[in-house]
Amino acid sequence: MAKAVGDSADPGAEHQWHNTLRRGRVPGPRMSHQRALPESAGNSTKSVHSGTYLDPITGAVGTPIFQTSTFEFSEHTYEAFEQGHIRDVPIYGRYGSPNQWAVQEKIAALEGAQSSVVFSSGMSAITTTLLALTNHGGHIISSRDVYGGTFNLLREDMHQLGREVTFVEPTDMDQIRAALQDNTQVLFFETLTNPLLKAIKLPELGELAKEHNLLLVIDNTFLSPQFIRPLDLGAHVVIHSCTKYLNGHSDLTAGVASGSRKYLDRVWNLMLRLGGSLDAMECYLLERGIKTLALRMRAHNENAHAIAGFLASHRGVRRVHHPSLPDYECTWIRDVCPDGYGGMVSFELVGGDEAALKFLDRLQLPVVATSLGGVESLVSLPFNTSHSFFTLQQRQEVGILPGLVRFSAGVEDADDLIVDLDQALASI
Ligand SMILES: *Cc1c(COP(=O)(O)O)cnc(C)c1O
Repeated sequence: MAKAVGDSADPGAEHQWHNTLRRGRVPGPRMSHQRALPESAGNSTKSVHSGTYLDPITGAVGTPIFQTSTFEFSEHTYEAFEQGHIRDVPIYGRYGSPNQWAVQEKIAALEGAQSSVVFSSGMSAITTTLLALTNHGGHIISSRDVYGGTFNLLREDMHQLGREVTFVEPTDMDQIRAALQDNTQVLFFETLTNPLLKAIKLPELGELAKEHNLLLVIDNTFLSPQFIRPLDLGAHVVIHSCTKYLNGHSDLTAGVASGSRKYLDRVWNLMLRLGGSLDAMECYLLERGIKTLALRMRAHNENAHAIAGFLASHRGVRRVHHPSLPDYECTWIRDVCPDGYGGMVSFELVGGDEAALKFLDRLQLPVVATSLGGVESLVSLPFNTSHSFFTLQQRQEVGILPGLVRFSAGVEDADDLIVDLDQALASI
């Protein structure tokens, strides 16, 4: 770990510790009995096959669950201790296990990464990654539009941990440039913001990071690797709340960080100390969920498109936020995401929050709940959930106007969802 930025005679050199990480590293960790596909394989093929543990004794088709917290020492283990590559050998559950490695390799294949680390939640992935990639005295540039938990971490806790944070408008490159400081280490943004679906300019952020020797960390939860691969566009680390689309069934909590091995080894090291590792059973469930990622994402995307189109022409709806619509402002997303934009739609009802509350009451098919990315459609209102701690004026400042509804389109039949939306709108 580099010294604190402030301790150095040459602060410019100290916060760029990552340039001195030159030790040779192999991708992984990988096992000898594990399925690997050529990089050219498609996303559906990778989501089904990549990473699967190939059991040499039984020929089990799926990865077995290694429900064990520790592994018998062998010559390999002692060698790994001696040579300092304990991340690559099964030693202890928190350090790594065949189930972690199987699902990590699947996600790494989808993201085009050398290495991934899974975590017990998306927040654990974000906290661990941001702390691992910055020093005491370092500076992070991020946005007020990030996920509420992340915003609270950045606003409430980071300064206690010696990291400065500047919040900018995530689509405004001039503002981001103006926020750069000598001690800036990390740019942290989400590919699509919640709930207004503003898109960041990922290729330009990648250029900026390169130009100023910064690390670009991207939370890609809303789009998934099916629609965008931030590492191909200049990001250094990509993070997901696997609780959402990657697992896709609203039945577990997990997170992941992916990128080149030199950064991920550092993230893994801090994960060992902070302790947010993912248990074998959860890894197994996550691996199983991801097998249908490509299939599900296509259905989420089609449903969100259909719903956005229906709502945009309904007179009870004032405005719909979706990248497919003519009045969508961040049109650059269409160049980087030619295949779709995930399953989120948000819209403002003409009658304001009162109408929105009635609307939620009348809906029969979607479940009124927080979260997103599950096979079932979920619906909630930002004003009394994610943004309830804002005043009315603060909400208006960030574009969350009265009557805003956030809709996570599931994989039901689009017609059924639209019939239900229609009857609920008619009754308010
Ligand atoms: C849900 C979410 C998180 C947090 O993930 P958990 O798994 O709930 O800890 C982070 N970022 C985004 C964009 C999210 O939607």
